[in-house]
Amino acid sequence: MLELINSLFSDSEHHELYMGVIETVEGIIREFPEDAWKRKMIGDPELERQVQETVYGAGLMGLGIEEKFGGMGGGLLGPILVTDMLAQHGLTSFAQVLTSFCRAPLLNHGSPAQIERYAVPSITGEKSFCILATEPDAGTNTFNISTRATRRGDKWILNGQKTYITKAAESDYGFLIARTDLEAQGALSVFVLDMKSPGIEMQQMNINIFGEDRQYTVFFDDVEMPADALVGEEGAGGKYMFAGLNAERLIISAMAVGTADLALRETARYVNERTLFGGQPTGTYQAVQHPLAQGKADTEAARLLLYHGVKLFDEGRDAGMYSNMAKLQSANAATSVCDAAIQFHGGSGMDEDTGILALWRTARVLKIAPINNEMILNYIAQHGIGLPRSY
Ligand SMILES: Cc1cc2nc3c(=O)[nH]c(=O)nc-3n(C[C@H](O)[C@H](O)[C@H](O)COP(=O)(O)OP(=O)(O)OC[C@H]3O[C@@H](n4cnc5c(N)ncnc54)[C@H](O)[C@@H]3O)c2cc1C
Repeated sequence: MLELINSLFSDSEHHELYMGVIETVEGIIREFPEDAWKRKMIGDPELERQVQETVYGAGLMGLGIEEKFGGMGGGLLGPILVTDMLAQHGLTSFAQVLTSFCRAPLLNHGSPAQIERYAVPSITGEKSFCILATEPDAGTNTFNISTRATRRGDKWILNGQKTYITKAAESDYGFLIARTDLEAQGALSVFVLDMKSPGIEMQQMNINIFGEDRQYTVFFDDVEMPADALVGEEGAGGKYMFAGLNAERLIISAMAVGTADLALRETARYVNERTLFGGQPTGTYQAVQHPLAQGKADTEAARLLLYHGVKLFDEGRDAGMYSNMAKLQSANAATSVCDAAIQFHGGSGMDEDTGILALWRTARVLKIAPINNEMILNYIAQHGIGLPRSY
């Protein structure tokens, strides 16, 4: 990471901060046994808690938050470095990833009081966020949602449902996208919802991808939200949401390339040891080497798109194309690498205890969530090569 950061960010005013981040994350990684990721991926609540506490304890959640709010500043690159490096060791805290991108619209559009109340406690890990966007009848098309917040006196009353919500049960706050009485197309609004409010019910879904981090369908039945739960202007939620998408795609890309590195390292270790015919390790065969070598090249190419996208983002330039391309290429590279990892682990690739299948699940879901690769290709076709909008 040092070489990459030095070559792309050596003239950044935050260069020293980034060097400190790398050193801190390396220290965290050394605190855990090398194979801790296997337990974490499969689901080990105690390990999950330890990783989260260590990341929060090191102050890393203050990255990207302005100093005046008690953060460390430094833009998006800090959270990206943390996500990439932790994923390389299977120690990504999904709580950290979620909170990083959920609080971004709040930091950009919330009032100082909202930032103090909701975002600042997320620096210490005292409070965490989930994101409540997807609905059963409005998956990819968020503009089709029907969850509604209606003004009643000085309160908002919320009704509807969301689905696939990661960590809904464990989060303190939800960053919620809802329709209000502004009926114009796209007039969505965003709210910070106290997830412990009366009137919220949840059902755990039968999805098991990120170890302890599970998904829920969340039902709202006349849930009261205070007037100041609304973030920014009513009806501007669509705009805020879009503004946060590039950061979200870059963070997901970091998770994908880190996961690909881990799968490559683990598979290289395995095929260097596994001997079947005449004492030769399976890693000596070209049929085994080439997919892994291709995966390495694809991963590093995706990582370059990622860090270039982050540079544009942090310099306040248009990062849309690179964020989308980075997310696409990283999710594809990670899925191919993990597929090869399963193949070259043979039957043991199917054994949950080796952790390889869990790595594949982590990589594979990133082609679908938080945005599917087809929508990314739609964006590239339209904005990158001037083709008509196709949907
Ligand atoms: C593990 C996991 C965690 C998640 N966590 C959260 C969360 O915390 N919060 C949250 O709000 N949501 C979350 N989601 C939901 C996720 O964002 C949605 O699954 C995703 O947006 C797609 O919506 P959908 O599943 O309804 O698929 P659909 O919208 O039904 O789409 C299905 C498929 O159709 C194709 N498709 C759709 N539209 C187009 C198009 N215009 N052009 C080309 N192809 C298209 C794509 O292949 C797409 O994958 C999570 C999902 C998973 C699986």
